[in-house]
Amino acid sequence: MRSRDCKIVATMGPASDPPERLAMLIQAGVDCFRLNFSHGGREDHARRMAAIRDAEAKAGAPVCVFADLQGPKIRVGMFADGQVTLKYNDIVTIEASAEPGEGKLIRMPHPELVNALEEGDILKLDDGKMQLTIVERGRTQVKARVDFGGVLKNQKGVNVPTRRIPISALTEKDREDLAYALDLRVDYVALSFVQHAEDVREARALIGDRAGIISKIEKPSALSEIDAIVEASDAVMVARGDLGVELPPEQVPIAQRQIIRAARAAGRPVIVATHMLESMVDAPTPTRAEASDVATAVYQGADAVMLSAESAVGRHPQSAVAIMDRIIRAVENDNEYWASLPRDMTPPQATTADAIALSARHIADVIGCAALVAYTATGSSAIRVARERPRCGVIGLTPFLMTARKLALVWGVRSMVTEDVENVEEMVSKADAAVRKLGVAEIGDRVAIIAGIPFGRAGKTNTIRVLRLE
Ligand code: PEP
Repeated sequence: MRSRDCKIVATMGPASDPPERLAMLIQAGVDCFRLNFSHGGREDHARRMAAIRDAEAKAGAPVCVFADLQGPKIRVGMFADGQVTLKYNDIVTIEASAEPGEGKLIRMPHPELVNALEEGDILKLDDGKMQLTIVERGRTQVKARVDFGGVLKNQKGVNVPTRRIPISALTEKDREDLAYALDLRVDYVALSFVQHAEDVREARALIGDRAGIISKIEKPSALSEIDAIVEASDAVMVARGDLGVELPPEQVPIAQRQIIRAARAAGRPVIVATHMLESMVDAPTPTRAEASDVATAVYQGADAVMLSAESAVGRHPQSAVAIMDRIIRAVENDNEYWASLPRDMTPPQATTADAIALSARHIADVIGCAALVAYTATGSSAIRVARERPRCGVIGLTPFLMTARKLALVWGVRSMVTEDVENVEEMVSKADAAVRKLGVAEIGDRVAIIAGIPFGRAGKTNTIRVLRLE
């Protein structure tokens, strides 16, 4: 069977924990697992990581894992009665304090937020179920009008779409979780609520080259700096859960297209996430609208689509993966997909490596190659070729297991760990062996190979060779 190009990410949780279930999820098509540090204890993540690596070894193909840090999720504090009722047009007072609120007083343990609020700012409470507008700024307190009310319970989430909050993307908990995740040897770390490129650079200073960085785009303020954020990141996620609270719903599809376009132009893998097959948390089949939503992300050129609650706590995790796999394959079998897929993404300031990647794709198209093999140390050569969306897919050959795992998130790339090659004969013979082993080419097929000569130096891709299998 032709391999699938768009990748599938599944969030780990109690529903995906049993080892036999995990093996079935990989079998059904999961390429990458997400450890969600907003839920569960550290020991849960460690246990899950060990189980994934065990299942990966049995499956015999690299599997990517990323740790999704909670980030500066802002929450209301506690209430003396556990909750307050907010009524339409009521005026409530908000102040920064760790003490419980009551009546018309809402307290939040976030002085940086309360101090930043100005008249006209909007606060969305509990995933947007309630909304307040700030009507008066005092010295230490603000007053807000209830636009739509409801019952506000202890510690429900707060989103402020109208303002950039002067808050680091990494909280104390995130820093501790990050150190733990790096010890677990995750392949990427996902940063929540990134607001500007500086947030990514701050995380990079802590992470170094121990993991890649996925920036989750879930704040409108991130959209206005999307190019700089994408440039500073190794991958991005369209995190539609929080984005959909911060933006009006009609703006979410537009933001999705904008983020995918920015990521594709910069050659960064992009994941579309949240509510993709949400009804499958309970139901055995998706709605037509959900199937269409997954297909749209694939048509738009996403590298990966993600399951959240469907695989973490849903009743049908394996079916959700299998259905996602079928939807992706159906799109990839549609000629219209290939006709409309943005390709030729090489930037105006192209490097030699960019030009080689584009040319290799043209060669593969013109002579109908069965595969395009990229020798890659950091993964960047394979990502560069994948950016050009070759119809034959990409085989990444790398000496590093972590690179092979990271590439499992990238559109169209399958990878294998091979020892460094020392000469052109070895380059050709190892590529030949790899495509046969992966079953992507047979005798008589042609395969394009890209590599850097002299061998063994990263970032020096300068060679294309075409091989015919004999
Ligand atoms: C999202 O908001 O879409 C998302 C993936 O992040 P989280 O689930 O951590 O809120």
